Amino acid sequence: MDNIVIVGAGQGGLQAAISLRQDGFTGRITLIGGEEGLPYQRPPLSKAYLKTGDAGALRLRPASFFAKAGIDLIGGLWVDHIDRNAQTVMAGDRVFPYDHLILATGTRNLRPPIPGLDRALDLRTLQDASRLRAALDRPKRCAVIGGGFIGLEFAAVAAGLGHDVTIAEAAPRLMARAVSPAMSERFHALHRDLGTTLHLNAPVTDVTEDGITLQDGSAIGADVVLLAAGVRPNTHLAKVAGLPVENGIVVDAFLLTNDPAISALGDCAVFPNPNTGQPVRLESVQAATDHARLISRRITGKSRDPYAAVPWFWSDQADAKLQIAGLAAPDDEALAGADGTIWRFAGDRLSAVETVNNAKTHMQARKRLAGVPIDRAALFGTGFDISAV
Ligand SMILES: Cc1cc2nc3c(=O)[nH]c(=O)nc-3n(C[C@H](O)[C@H](O)[C@H](O)COP(=O)(O)OP(=O)(O)OC[C@H]3O[C@@H](n4cnc5c(N)ncnc54)[C@H](O)[C@@H]3O)c2cc1C
Repeated sequence: MDNIVIVGAGQGGLQAAISLRQDGFTGRITLIGGEEGLPYQRPPLSKAYLKTGDAGALRLRPASFFAKAGIDLIGGLWVDHIDRNAQTVMAGDRVFPYDHLILATGTRNLRPPIPGLDRALDLRTLQDASRLRAALDRPKRCAVIGGGFIGLEFAAVAAGLGHDVTIAEAAPRLMARAVSPAMSERFHALHRDLGTTLHLNAPVTDVTEDGITLQDGSAIGADVVLLAAGVRPNTHLAKVAGLPVENGIVVDAFLLTNDPAISALGDCAVFPNPNTGQPVRLESVQAATDHARLISRRITGKSRDPYAAVPWFWSDQADAKLQIAGLAAPDDEALAGADGTIWRFAGDRLSAVETVNNAKTHMQARKRLAGVPIDRAALFGTGFDISAV
């Protein structure tokens, strides 16, 4: 194999290019990204960057790295077509042949059909974050549509900077897709203590010049409205090329699509959950980078193992670092430990561990979840000391 093209120069696309070189691939690597500039990290966009405005600190690698590593980085170019027969990708009138293609196209913001939504700002790209930062140049009333990770991280920073913040969440609790009810409660209290007003079961029905309107008719005055209502995977290219697409580009346990010359990774890929075999799509730096490493090892022949990495995630909200090791289904049982750790169980098997400001337990959980399944009774027997199971 001489020629690998990667579409999407975000966290996972870049990692794939880096890993291929580290794993000894000597052929051509072309990394094509629609956004201008060098690949950067998104997590700080809703955290440190909003405070500092330091775009340089987000960069994943300096410009000099790409020349040194022999990676052809092409920024500001949108790939618009894949010709699977010819094994080429097209971007306008430019054509890139590939022996293997890696799709790392990520996600875009979900835009619900709410009248006036074009008045709301997004927080997905550096450009979005810079626009949002500029809008917070003096004390403002901010309304956040969505009480998930990104909306809450923004809310914590904005409240900390002295803005007046209101969150409207359609679900009955915060971060409902990702954490236990007890953890939602804990973060609800945290945001309330920061002075933020929270509305649950409160879908937004309108964005007006004066702010937002909730389903119950109440109007919330706002100068800045942030849309943080989730994302959709960028699957269009794959779909038009005839690759299977569900809630993402479908790949197998080796992160291959049903075309042996095309892999997909990260936020845009649906892969089999190693524990359950059920299709899952994750939106995390961990998944994007671990997917990339596996694809590289497979391409370079370093490993033939299926994907089995333990998922993990973090979110920083004010002084609370939430960390999740493993992956729980929404109805997995949740048991609270004395130190505030939440232990999730699928039947009798430990599925995930949610911690706050407890890196030690988080790291131990990541390590132990990678081994043999952990039984509830065994964990209970140690008084929930995961290092002793
Ligand atoms: C504000 C914010 C905060 C976050 N915080 C956290 C956090 O605390 N912890 C965590 O684990 N994760 C966090 N995430 C999620 C994390 O950033 C993503 O999971 C990760 O970036 C996914 O990597 P990826 O490579 O799959 O996609 P991305 O990094 O999104 O990269 C995809 C790239 O593909 C490009 N692209 C798409 N289509 C095309 C095309 N046709 N042609 C060319 N280029 C294309 C896009 O422009 C984009 O640059 C956060 C995300 C955001 C937005």
